[in-house]
Amino acid sequence: MNVHEYQAKEILARYGVPVAGGGVATSAEEARRIAEKIGGPVVVKAQIHAGGRGKGGGIKLAQTVAEAEAHARAIVGMTLVSPQTGPKGRLVRKVYVTAASEIAHEYYLGLLVDRAKSRLTIMASAEGGVEIEKVAAETPEKIIRADISPSAGYSPYVGRRIGRGIGLGPDQVKQFVALLSACVRCFTEMDCSLVEINPLILTPDGKLFALDAKVNFDDNALFRHPDVKEMRDIHEEDPLEVEASKSDLNYIKLDDGQVGCMVNGAGLAMSTMDIIQLAGGKPANFLDVGGGASKETVSNAFHILMRDEDVKAVLVNIFGGIVRCDRVAEGIIAAAKEVHIDVPLVVRLQGTNAREARQLLEASGLKLTVAETLDEAARKVVAAVGGAA
Ligand code: GDP
Ligand code: MN
Repeated sequence: MNVHEYQAKEILARYGVPVAGGGVATSAEEARRIAEKIGGPVVVKAQIHAGGRGKGGGIKLAQTVAEAEAHARAIVGMTLVSPQTGPKGRLVRKVYVTAASEIAHEYYLGLLVDRAKSRLTIMASAEGGVEIEKVAAETPEKIIRADISPSAGYSPYVGRRIGRGIGLGPDQVKQFVALLSACVRCFTEMDCSLVEINPLILTPDGKLFALDAKVNFDDNALFRHPDVKEMRDIHEEDPLEVEASKSDLNYIKLDDGQVGCMVNGAGLAMSTMDIIQLAGGKPANFLDVGGGASKETVSNAFHILMRDEDVKAVLVNIFGGIVRCDRVAEGIIAAAKEVHIDVPLVVRLQGTNAREARQLLEASGLKLTVAETLDEAARKVVAAVGGAA
């Protein structure tokens, strides 16, 4: 799960990471009141779950309260297009109004899980403010890394080594050691999957603090953090993914595909996507109906798949292990009565009662193509969307 910058900063601040004060506003008037309280120059920052906001015009410096109000009026309600939002952009609903800082230098600091090493990895660079991917690709030697072993934990020595590595002086290294320690504690205690401070800034009077913050959480640990769960902003998520999660369906939208996939189990979803690509097509999404695909689940799943505008054909690929294929077939037949399925439908049901299922589908009078093997199913669905690309 992802949260906004203002929420990320609130969480990091609890652990002692220095951030500038501020408040969140949904209107220009509210932004004005926050700016008045801060006094002095402020920055008005669009709150969306994507970075690169500065480049898209979502971050504006204001010298006066009136200017802050004007910036907030322009930013709230704008569709912000940044390098990370895609061409459609994101509607901005909130701004964060925060005290403006003077910047002497911008650094990068990121913490994430290195799955190959099973360790928390720290990355830092003196090249902050810019995309770290670019630094990693062009000048990888400018990124200093360190791993934290779960048994040994963080030790100040690691912070000192990284701090010196990015060129900090003795006084700043001291601040960096404490700041990094706070980040590591936050990362582990809050079950984060990413903590990124870009930029981490040095002010002209020698103070380090987080000018921007991005924190992601491990969804599987959210039950331990009800306060974080509350921070979820469903406006920032794909509306169909939100609807699917309400029906306990796992739906993932994919870019540039045409085939909607209804499957059971993540493993089968992966192989279904592979085989579609092998046949020359591209999946538009995948929808995992889970182990017990009932009539209702199948019907809900069709509702969601039909609302994805990219879907030009649907492939149902279900293996009846626990679930019986004839039940699934009944679900498909019932769903077809409720939901208008206006694209070609290819169905492959294998496993328990597969034969009965096929008979039910054939007798239903529904316009669909039945397939026996995965290969055949993929070829048929790709042919239905106009053949291999
Ligand atoms: P992002 O574009 O979404 O990553 O948003 P950031 O919060 O990182 O801001 C982008 C850039 O705006 C920073 O790298 C800074 O150069 C600039 N910026 C943001 N806040 C301030 C501030 O308080 N003072 C100054 N001088 N620049 C700022
Ligand atoms: Mn940033």
